[in-house]
Amino acid sequence: MILDLRRFGKALVIDLDNGYSLLIHLRMTGQLIWWDEDDVTSDGGVRASFAGGHPSENFVSELPNRQTRVILHLTNGTLFFNDQRKFGFIKILPTGEVEKDAFVKKLAPEPWAMTADELFMRLTKHKNSTVKSVILDQSVVCGLGNIYADESLWRAGIHPERKAGEVSLDETEKLLFAMRRVMEESIEAGGSTIRNYVKADGTRGNYLDIFAKVYGREGKACARCGETLLKIKVGGRGTRFCPKCQRKSGKMKDSNLTRLETDGSKKTKVGDCLEKMEVGVCLEKVGAGDKND
Ligand SMILES: [Zn+2]
Repeated sequence: MILDLRRFGKALVIDLDNGYSLLIHLRMTGQLIWWDEDDVTSDGGVRASFAGGHPSENFVSELPNRQTRVILHLTNGTLFFNDQRKFGFIKILPTGEVEKDAFVKKLAPEPWAMTADELFMRLTKHKNSTVKSVILDQSVVCGLGNIYADESLWRAGIHPERKAGEVSLDETEKLLFAMRRVMEESIEAGGSTIRNYVKADGTRGNYLDIFAKVYGREGKACARCGETLLKIKVGGRGTRFCPKCQRKSGKMKDSNLTRLETDGSKKTKVGDCLEKMEVGVCLEKVGAGDKND
């Protein structure tokens, strides 16, 4: 029996009543798909009630498929662990040892558990690395995958290739708020939209098109300034950004881009614009998938 579900950054922990836990990490191409036996389609088939992780073409259409590595049969449904590139893992360990696990121990706090000053200090420690690579490092800040990182940097107006040590405290604050909002909004919208996504055609929906402002949108217009979005590699990861409103120099005027959070009176033009932006969902509820980086 499952006693509890816990999350440590991008890892999911399932605590069982036999004193053991499953520590699951999806890494780049992992997927978790839950089939609830009571959730049947009109023709009597079982529907994938929940899906998380790497959004591939055959995500939920055919199960098990060639990428299925583990199938967990539970009393009221089935959990599939798919992983194309096999970077993900499921580890079985005594529940009392989960927090002592080397992987869990090295995780930094999540954006909600960190102040801007703390993130700034952490960025400074990696001052010569690109900011994109640094925020993907789970020992610096925990929970961001490739998609969240790009979306957060876009929201904060920071070029992904900037040196972490050149990001100002003010920019770090914007980045921290952007991280929180990107993650919150995608988690909140998660379940129901994934259900719709499955209904639509059984293969692949447009949830990322709705949620993402830069992910998968290279060649299209920036939602903020209209400039054509670009895709480059940063630290080996596919990276999307706007060359106009994500400046490399960091010398942007405050009037162009400042605070985007909490205090309405301090909100400026771009802040207002960001407030209004519609953010939907991405399938990163558990891990950080990336379809083609
Ligand atoms: Zn732009």
